[in-house]
Amino acid sequence: MTKQFKPETLCVQAGWTPKKGEPRVLPIYQSTTFKYETSEQMARLFDLEDSGYFYTRLQNPTNDAVAAKIAALEGGVGAMLTSSGQAANFYAIFNICQAGDHFVCSSAIYGGTFNLFGVTMKKLGIDVTFVHPDASEEEISAAFRPNTKALFGETISNPSLEVLDIEKFARIAHSHGVPLIIDNTFPTPINCRPFEWGADIVVHSTTKYMDGHATSVGGCIVDSGNFDWDAHADKFPGLCTPDESYHGLTYTKAFGKMAYMTKATAQLMRDLGSIQSPMNAFLLNLGLETLHLRVPQHCRNAQKVAEYLSKNEKVAWVNYCGLPGNKYYERAQKYLPDGSCGVISFGLKGGRELSIKFMDSLKLAAIVTHVADARTCVLHPASHTHRQLTDEQLIEAGVRPDLIRLSVGIENADDIIADIEQALNA
Ligand SMILES: *Cc1c(COP(=O)(O)O)cnc(C)c1O
Repeated sequence: MTKQFKPETLCVQAGWTPKKGEPRVLPIYQSTTFKYETSEQMARLFDLEDSGYFYTRLQNPTNDAVAAKIAALEGGVGAMLTSSGQAANFYAIFNICQAGDHFVCSSAIYGGTFNLFGVTMKKLGIDVTFVHPDASEEEISAAFRPNTKALFGETISNPSLEVLDIEKFARIAHSHGVPLIIDNTFPTPINCRPFEWGADIVVHSTTKYMDGHATSVGGCIVDSGNFDWDAHADKFPGLCTPDESYHGLTYTKAFGKMAYMTKATAQLMRDLGSIQSPMNAFLLNLGLETLHLRVPQHCRNAQKVAEYLSKNEKVAWVNYCGLPGNKYYERAQKYLPDGSCGVISFGLKGGRELSIKFMDSLKLAAIVTHVADARTCVLHPASHTHRQLTDEQLIEAGVRPDLIRLSVGIENADDIIADIEQALNA
């Protein structure tokens, strides 16, 4: 299905292909367990000698159908759903890093990921160095050490909206023999497919545009199957040497291009258990069925709102890579020719206090700790999501203290602009 159909068709049809007499719509396999005929059949599953379902903490058919749809959209060989975007990011790194290892990460990333990598994973003995994504290849390369196992970045950073030079990051990662992991949450595969630019692994918070209706927290990891783990076997013993918890099986030998995804499922999901519930996977699938319609509408509306804001004299600055003159306009034309996302950031003349007053005056746009769903919403990162960061860390993460993050929904653009106008005049 992957090669044959275009993204619009994959959104609607990929993942679930019913056989004779089966439900047309993806069913919710709301079952923790799966039945077998003989003890031997079940034993073979536990030895990873047969593939099949046995316990929903590891795998569930509803989840797998939805993961297969996302894999098809990204052009990957396999994918897995996780209970949240945070879990996806944690697993993506932890699958190839252990205590004593290190990875390099763009400093322009989501606040939750910044904490996970910079604080919590350090407690597990996994060290990270943050680099500015626009630093030179030499500067970024200087952050690599002999124990560095990955490079990580966001296609469009949340909330600083910096567009990553994915090809540059891929070059740097590969010159050091490690994979490039890209969080592609904001553009979604409708607007950017990082594998086409050299990324090896893609992660998503499916909570955002993919679900699109703010109903279900979830995440996803997709593998391109392109990274040659065995060529760097000394760096990745978890994939290239026998796993004692599976009778000495070696993932790269037994599963080839599916080694990374199989290890993440058979080992990390088994032991850590951040599986997405089948019910949430079903809701995510409903969202995915219209992703190709919603994402362009988010982008059209955001473009109009950004143009309106950039002409308003009460507005100090606007950051949207679809505006000519934006620092990332040219790069966005290359990586995101069909549009970037529905998220805009801006600041008001009058700074932090006035920004908060403006937000309180909005009627259609709600103040919520969310982004990237059908309803227009706003957030002040310095007071909300990034509260725990110091002013220095805020600037490092590309978040100005007066920054308002506006997530433009799929309502009528004129109504959204009218709401902003009345709040600016309030
Ligand atoms: C929201 C978000 C996350 C975390 O996802 P959750 O589903 O909230 O756990 C990770 N990365 C990006 C870019 C996000 O926007």
